Amino acid sequence: MPFAATVLTLYPEMFPGPLAISLAGRALERGDWSLQTVQIRDFAMDRHRTVDDTPAGGGAGMVLKADVLAAALDSVADDRPVLAMTPRGAPIAQARVRDLAAGPGVTILCGRFEGFDERLFEARPHIEQVSLGDIVLSGGEPAALAVLDACIRLLPGVMGAPLSGAEESFEEGLLEYPQYTRPYEWEGRTIPEVLRSGDHARIAAWRKAMSESDTRLRRPDLWERHDGARVQPASGARRETKESDQ
Ligand code: SAH
Repeated sequence: MPFAATVLTLYPEMFPGPLAISLAGRALERGDWSLQTVQIRDFAMDRHRTVDDTPAGGGAGMVLKADVLAAALDSVADDRPVLAMTPRGAPIAQARVRDLAAGPGVTILCGRFEGFDERLFEARPHIEQVSLGDIVLSGGEPAALAVLDACIRLLPGVMGAPLSGAEESFEEGLLEYPQYTRPYEWEGRTIPEVLRSGDHARIAAWRKAMSESDTRLRRPDLWERHDGARVQPASGARRETKESDQ
């Protein structure tokens, strides 16, 4: 069965959007993945087709109603993981994307306005709240497109060279090394000599060193985790001593 994506949204016309282009688009045409959208408004309970209401306790904006969202979600209940896009969720990372891509597909719930009535998550605890990062979008749709794009490029047969997926940023818990291509000299700058040496062992060592130093400088959070995982004994004792030492 190909990877099946279902998106619950108030703006189904935003899909497949950019996912109809290039790698993902060709994969969609080939049937390597499928996409279904569900209009949340179709599950409104009244004749005005209301999907939102004012925030309890006051404040700006509107909140998506739990009853309408639950009805929309229950209409697609199956064994696929359900993600709700929200800045209050855990930031999604490549390891989770890899797991999702290896599974049957995903259902994604897109918010709008001020977001979801919190009781939805209490009543449907299988929903995983996921953030794209510490930014605020106007809706969950661009976040859903990003998550789907990340999954689709990992599906078998979608990317040309399978190795280019495995060596990428985050796959080893590190950023990727910097890349260069022809011309050899551009605006007086040359490509690092080692990359022209043809010495595969030296190139691999240089790339590993760059990957480590760039991660340390640019993403101390990733580096800390990577370094910790590398030297930490199985008991986890090192982390405890390290923290109490500081
Ligand atoms: N009032 C909310 C933001 C609502 S933004 C808050 O401050 O937490 C409207 C919708 O956009 C959200 O319901 C969510 O679906 C989507 N959204 C905004 N930022 C996002 C992010 N960083 N990751 C995932 N979804 C996001």
